[in-house]
Amino acid sequence: MTARILVVDDIPANVRLLEVRLLAEYFEVLTATNGPDAIETCENGKVDVVLLDVMMPDMDGFEVCRRLKSDPATSHIPIVMITALDQVSDRVRGLDAGADDFLTKPVNDLQLMTRVKSLVRLKTLTDELRLRASTTRNIGIEELLSRNFAAEDTMPKVLLIDERQSSFERIQKMLRGSADLDIATDPHAGFFQAAETPYECVMISTAFSDFDPLRLCSQLRSLDRTRFLPIILLAEQGEEGRLVRGLELGINDYLMRPIDQQELTARLRTQIRRKRYNDQLRASVTQTIEMAVTDGLTGLHNRRYLDSHLQTLFDRAVARRRPLSVMITDLDRFKAINDAHGHDGGDDVLREFARRLRKNVRGIDLACRFGGEEFVVVMPDTDGVVAERVAERIRAEIAQLPFAVGSEGETIEVTVSVGVSSVLKGVDTVAGLMKRADLALYEAKSGGRNRVVAKAA
Ligand code: GH3
Ligand code: MG
Ligand code: MG
Repeated sequence: MTARILVVDDIPANVRLLEVRLLAEYFEVLTATNGPDAIETCENGKVDVVLLDVMMPDMDGFEVCRRLKSDPATSHIPIVMITALDQVSDRVRGLDAGADDFLTKPVNDLQLMTRVKSLVRLKTLTDELRLRASTTRNIGIEELLSRNFAAEDTMPKVLLIDERQSSFERIQKMLRGSADLDIATDPHAGFFQAAETPYECVMISTAFSDFDPLRLCSQLRSLDRTRFLPIILLAEQGEEGRLVRGLELGINDYLMRPIDQQELTARLRTQIRRKRYNDQLRASVTQTIEMAVTDGLTGLHNRRYLDSHLQTLFDRAVARRRPLSVMITDLDRFKAINDAHGHDGGDDVLREFARRLRKNVRGIDLACRFGGEEFVVVMPDTDGVVAERVAERIRAEIAQLPFAVGSEGETIEVTVSVGVSSVLKGVDTVAGLMKRADLALYEAKSGGRNRVVAKAA
């Protein structure tokens, strides 16, 4: 894992100390000795994690953190605050300023690497989502990133897998009021519970009498449904080796017993916050992709989707020597419907037409709005004879039953013309296939409309 870490501390010796340790782990290191320089470096981009000293003259770490987190250009960069030992109030202030995590001085090596690696991993995921979001032309991504999630206040659902009663009862007490905690005392049952319930974090004790907790971690990481579920390991003193292996398996964080309440709630809060942030990003990307390939008026696929998919369906049909047909439909005298009933009336007709079209094709057929009042249906595994029959069924279904327009219960007669073509044996192309369907449609129009013309294969 390589990443660029910015170390900020007003004392050069402290900077050097962290720099050496990070370089030894092959991280790239940038440095700054005051707040304004740190902010400038972040604005110039390419910083993956900031390690930020709290006590600095002029602008202290809290202020630097607040500024970075309130600027949409830098708010996604994880910040680890470095506070003096046992300054609980500093930790709380840091988290309030938007810090993602904290470390106490003197900085312990394993803790340093855990926090940094965990945040780099989450940042990598976030970056990928941001990139995907912007390449799918996501509008509003900046807004999403800078938004203060309302969801932050809702009680997180957390699972604790721990077989020792004295231990889970203590944790239960510590989290009362800040988490909705379920407890599983059996690790196998705990695994299934984690897979079946939408938890936002799972905490796993290392102290089982008869079970390897790392097995559970690796199972949770390999299962699709729990891949992004944050895992916090609750370890005993002296278990550093096990923690290192856990981190390699992808656990997100750990706590050493005896567990400190401040630390527990802070670590949990960090994991939950990152998870919610990434979940929202992922959902928005999915939604954007759907929007990009769907026609807003009818809910059918749009032309962009057809353009990207028809070639695939065509190639597959040719390779498997299976038939493939397309039909282009065009509503008759649609302009007159718009003129008589307004654009909204026309839209009602388009929606109802799309509904009837969808009803009359199979699930594997690809129905798209090609533009205006033209629709295309691609029918895999369908030869010309069958395609013509389907087209005729659709034509009849449109002409048979009048369409309702507006809210007054008015109805109008609508008809459609259809051109059908099929993939030719021997040499054929997508362009040729579409061209023949278009010619057939033209013939249907000039032949009097409300009819189907098929170009025989
Ligand atoms: P033909 O029988 O020859 O197809 O005649 P037509 O009037 O249907 O064909 P023409 O292409 O002249 O007109 C299509 C009309 O469809 C013109 C355009 O304003 C209208 N139209 C295109 N998109 C939409 C839309 O999204 N909603 C509505 N209501 N009308 C649309
Ligand atoms: Mg028309
Ligand atoms: Mg037209």
